[in-house]
Amino acid sequence: MSGSLRATSGLRPAGIAAFRAPLALRHTRYVSTRSSLSGESVAPLVTVTPTEVKKPAVSAHSVIPTGILLRSLLVTTVSSHPLLLGSSLSILSFLTKSRSLLLDVERNPLIHWVLRKTFYDHFCAGEREAEVHKTIEQIKSTGVKGVILTYTRETVQDSRTEQQRFANTKALEKAASTDTCEHIEAWREDVLRTVDMLGPGDFLAPKLTGAGPKVTQAFAAGQPVPTQMVEALDEVCRRVVEKKARLLMDAEQHAFLQGIHSLTLDMMRKYNRGGEAVIYNTFQAYLKAAPELIASHLKLAHEEGFTLGLKLVRGAYMSSDPRHLIHDTKENTDQAYDTIVRGILQQNYKGFGEKGRPFPATDLFLATHNVESAVAAHNLHQTRVRDNLPTCKVEFGQLMGMADGVTYGLLQLRGQNRAPPAVYKCLHWGSLSECLSFLLRRAAENRDAVSRTMTEHEALKAEVKRRIRAVFSRS
Ligand SMILES: Cc1cc2nc3c(=O)[nH]c(=O)nc-3n(C[C@H](O)[C@H](O)[C@H](O)COP(=O)(O)OP(=O)(O)OC[C@H]3O[C@@H](n4cnc5c(N)ncnc54)[C@H](O)[C@@H]3O)c2cc1C
Repeated sequence: MSGSLRATSGLRPAGIAAFRAPLALRHTRYVSTRSSLSGESVAPLVTVTPTEVKKPAVSAHSVIPTGILLRSLLVTTVSSHPLLLGSSLSILSFLTKSRSLLLDVERNPLIHWVLRKTFYDHFCAGEREAEVHKTIEQIKSTGVKGVILTYTRETVQDSRTEQQRFANTKALEKAASTDTCEHIEAWREDVLRTVDMLGPGDFLAPKLTGAGPKVTQAFAAGQPVPTQMVEALDEVCRRVVEKKARLLMDAEQHAFLQGIHSLTLDMMRKYNRGGEAVIYNTFQAYLKAAPELIASHLKLAHEEGFTLGLKLVRGAYMSSDPRHLIHDTKENTDQAYDTIVRGILQQNYKGFGEKGRPFPATDLFLATHNVESAVAAHNLHQTRVRDNLPTCKVEFGQLMGMADGVTYGLLQLRGQNRAPPAVYKCLHWGSLSECLSFLLRRAAENRDAVSRTMTEHEALKAEVKRRIRAVFSRS
């Protein structure tokens, strides 16, 4: 089953068949003609029509090595089976919260081995640099433009108990409360080790809450972070620039968001001066306040003359962020996401781009596994380029181990210049205990996106069958 997707402006049909049976594309989806979010009148973002489309010459998953393909099939088998996934989620959640030495994933070799060989290796790049280098090499060999690298340590605050959990790394265990905060120093060292692994054109994606309690307490209280942290972040940004890489700051839980945004804005003011964004802030479209927040950052970029780096996600903290801040339905979040994308790509958003109010220089990064949003954005961007209309740079990212059909399907599309869109894979690295909260979020995302998980599973199965048939037809 295939579908084709066409931008409303009559853009040539894009090769959506490359996405291998995208269930979500069997119907037409419109962004409502009156956005409830902005009050602005909006035309449909994309029309998805079922049409006859030739089978693609190459399946999107054909670039994946066989060992990784089989592991992906195993993980998607678990993820697409409610009982198996439910049990895995409960076990992961229990291990994340457990204080028992016996159940410590770093100390219990059996638990460590099982998690490493399954979920960890599927979603994470490695515990040490040598492993990460190998994973980067493998991912780049599949044709993506580059990698986004994250050192995974973070603070996760349970909104019900107000307790903060830290990954139990050795560096953090021995941290003492001195003038120089060892948590911040440990964060600086680990993030700089991450920068060392970047190549030109890659991205660093730091998590600021990984810098420990002094930083998270300052964020939560709306206070400035310690000078040591500002200096550490500035050094990280400098090194990223030296590497000819860029930085996508992760958006984390809502309690910390204002602090993260404000610190990142300071770095944008300093480093986004050469006409393009080196530093990006992440905006979560599931937050009802996201459109206004983006408008306020556009205003600052306009007034202060820096390029706004705008990474857009839907948001990953539904289970811990206050529910009332988040859109009531998934459809509302989808609509919010697509409305923002459309406004930025058309350079007309919340009054910016209208008479007397020029649109500030903005670079857009769409971190999404949603094939409709990604392809619609690509098509709209290409239409604007073709018609010589104002638009901005747009790039795409998916997480390692997630939505390979979207990543490699996007790479099969072609733009006006015959080049594929710029697509990146995001790799998390760090010890197993540091990656547990991240793994838990990925398992939950697979549970919530049932149809996409099934689509990915079916596509992987089809690719495995294709390879088996190829072996037999050769012999
Ligand atoms: C490269 C990359 C980087 C990322 N970085 C970040 C980051 O810095 N911060 C962050 O928070 N997330 C981040 N994410 C995760 C992201 O926020 C989403 O959780 C994830 O990508 C799934 O959303 P989607 O756009 O792929 O689409 P879909 O799978 O179509 O949408 C799922 C999302 O819709 C929203 N949703 C689901 N149900 C409801 C509901 N009932 N009501 C309202 N909304 C609902 C949630 O946001 C959910 O995650 C990143 C993802 C990628 C691929």
